[in-house]
Amino acid sequence: MNIKEFVAFVDKLPDDCIEKKTDEEIVFHLPLTRPPCDRCGSKHVVVERYRKQKIYVSDTTTYIYRKRSYKCASCGVRFFEPNPFLGFHQRWIGDVPLRLFRGNKKITLRKMVTLLNVPFHVYKELENGEIPSSLELAGRVAGILSVRIEDIWGAEAEEKIRAKEQVSERKKQQAIAKKKEKNAIKEEFSVFQKNMKNLSLRKQKRILEMLGDLAEKEAPGTK
Ligand SMILES: [Zn+2]
Repeated sequence: MNIKEFVAFVDKLPDDCIEKKTDEEIVFHLPLTRPPCDRCGSKHVVVERYRKQKIYVSDTTTYIYRKRSYKCASCGVRFFEPNPFLGFHQRWIGDVPLRLFRGNKKITLRKMVTLLNVPFHVYKELENGEIPSSLELAGRVAGILSVRIEDIWGAEAEEKIRAKEQVSERKKQQAIAKKKEKNAIKEEFSVFQKNMKNLSLRKQKRILEMLGDLAEKEAPGTK
C-alpha cells in the first residue's frame, strides 16, 4: 500500500475506529474481526490488549495505529491482528524514513545541514535514499533525530555503511598513491631540467631529439 492508498484506507474506516483526529495526529484501530488463531486455527480468541504503533506518513501528520493483539483461548498463543498496510517490522509507508523523522522533529532541511556540518548535497542525497558514507555520519544523523541508525536505514544498515566506508577508504588510498607518484615524477623532472640547463644548447637539443626518438619507439604514431 502506498501513502495515498493508506490515507484513503483510514478515511474509509468506520467512525468508531477513529479515536482522535487532529491536523497533526490521527489515532485509529481496525474493526474487530476475531481472526482464527495463528497457531491452532481456533476461532475462540479474545482481545488481549492494544499496542500503539506510529506510522510515519508525512512530515506533518502522524498516524497512530492501535494494533490489537489477541490471545487464543484454546492454545494460549498471542498474536497481532492482520492489517493490510504494514509488514511485521515496517514502520513507515512509501516514503524515505529520514525525511519523515526529520519532519516529526520539526527540523528544517537547512537546519539539519547546519547541525550536521556537511555540504547541502551530501545531506540531500541521504534524503533521496542514499546510505551514509560513514557510520560516524549515520550516528550523528540518528542522534539528532533521536532514533537508531537501523530505524532510518533498515536492519542491515551498519553492515552496508561499513562496506561503503571500506570502498571509499580504498579509493582514498588509491588517490593518495597516485598523487605521491605524480609528485615523485615532478621532482625527477625538475632534477632533469636542472641537469639540462648545465649543458650546452647543442647537447640539450640532441638529448631532446633522442628522447623524441625514444618516445616514438615506445609508442609509435603518437608523436
Ligand atoms: Zn490457538
